[in-house]
Order: sequence, then C-alpha cells, then structure tokens
Amino acid sequence: MTNRQQVYEGKAKILYTTEDPDIFLSYFKDDATAFNAKKKGSIAKKGEMNCAIASHLFRQLEARGIPTHFIDQPSANEMRVKAVKIVPLEVVVRNIAAGSLCQQTGIPLGTLLKQPLVEFYYKNDALGDPLLTRDRLLLLELATPEQLAQLDQMAREINTLLQEFFDQCGITLVDFKLEFGLDRDQRLVLADEISPDTCRLWNQAETDPTRRVMDKDRFRHDLGEVEAAYDQVMQRVLAHQL
Ligand code: UDP
Repeated sequence: MTNRQQVYEGKAKILYTTEDPDIFLSYFKDDATAFNAKKKGSIAKKGEMNCAIASHLFRQLEARGIPTHFIDQPSANEMRVKAVKIVPLEVVVRNIAAGSLCQQTGIPLGTLLKQPLVEFYYKNDALGDPLLTRDRLLLLELATPEQLAQLDQMAREINTLLQEFFDQCGITLVDFKLEFGLDRDQRLVLADEISPDTCRLWNQAETDPTRRVMDKDRFRHDLGEVEAAYDQVMQRVLAHQL
C-alpha cells in the first residue's frame, strides 16, 4: 500500500496510516512479550493466527451489536481498523481466578467467581500498568464517570457473548483484557485485539492444569507447544459462529 506511515509500534502490532485518514492498518507481529516486556521471544505464525482469531471475534461481536474498530482483513497479518483514540485503560474481565488476581488476593487458581469481575488498569508501561481504583481513574481523567459506566457495561456484555462463543468451541474463557477507543463522534468502540495473547483460555477436554492451557501462559511459563495451542484455538474459533 502506498502512503503508509507508521503511527505507532507496540509489542505485538504495528499501526500504519492509509490514504484514508479515518482508517488505520494494524499489522500483527510474531513477537511475544510477557511480564511488562521483561521476557521477550517470538511465536511462529502468531501474527497470522491472532489476526485471524481477532478478525473473526470482532465480526461475531459486531453481528451481536457491539461496536468495534474492525473493518476487514486485507491479508493474513493485516487488519483494517477505524482510526480511534485509544482510551489508556486495560479493561480486564475475570470469570475464574488466575494470574494477578490469585497473586494479589490469595484466591486459589481456578476458583469460579460468583459474578464476573471487571477491573481497570492504567495502560502505562513506565508505571507497570497498575490496577486503578475508580477514584484514581477519575482523578487522572482517564475517562468520565459516564464513559466508565459504559465501559463497565460493554465489558460485561462482551464477556457474556464471548463466554457463549468459546463454550461452543469447547473452551473456557477464564479472563481477558479489552481496550477501547473513541471514534471521531466520541463514541466508545472496542479496539486492539482479542486473541490468545490477551485471554486465558482453558481446553474443556483437559483437567490437567498445564495441558488445559491454550493461551499466552504457555509462553509466559515455558509450558511448550505454544504454536500448537494458538493453532488449536484458531481452528476452533474459525469453525464457530455466535
Ligand atoms: N492481559 C493482557 N495484557 C496485559 C495484562 C493482562 O492482555 O498487559 C490479559 C492476560 O492475558 C489475562 C488477563 O488480561 O488474560 C488478566 O491478566 P492478569 O491481570 O492476571 O495479569 P498477568 O497474570 O497476565 O500478569
């Protein structure tokens, strides 16, 4: 594509401009990082797999009324997206206790939460993406109270839809991270990606705590067979509709 200029390079994707100022091109890389980029590596074909998974999931969510930045997928590694201003929040939804929730609260791994937990983290690598309180979020003016309520509601709706979708795939949606952006009309839309990089996904056919893992925890904790797990998620996701 001509006139392409890099807007931003993140850990897993590069964002480019296009001829249309309202459209960006998101290129999915094979690079993988964990623990705030202290662990670095690469997962073969991850860019293609995550781009395919995220594109399919965005299509499913759009069809069920969730506004997203997704436009189309012009090639294996590329997604065309609406140019939005990213809200500097990582919205995490949890159905089952894992990761930092276990580390910070002592709740045992695998505990089913009575209701989904929605948390807001400050998207700021220099500060280590800290967990925010509502008052700190408002103090920093990262969102208005109205936007905060809307983010919470959208995150819960997306969780309900994704839980249903992954359940059909024989996968348990343990937790995941969402990012949102504001479009030119100041409307909140789901942005970034939804993939095994940003979700914890457990294979329902396995009970073994290592064998069941189908997400980036395989990379984070050197569990092996990372590519095969991502590929299995992709095969199952692409074979299902919401
Ligand atoms: N997550 C993410 N990006 C981040 C932090 C978390 O995609 O920068 C995802 C992570 O993959 C998991 C969920 O958000 O599905 C909850 O992560 P957690 O807070 O447990 O942090 P972690 O244990 O990954 O450090």
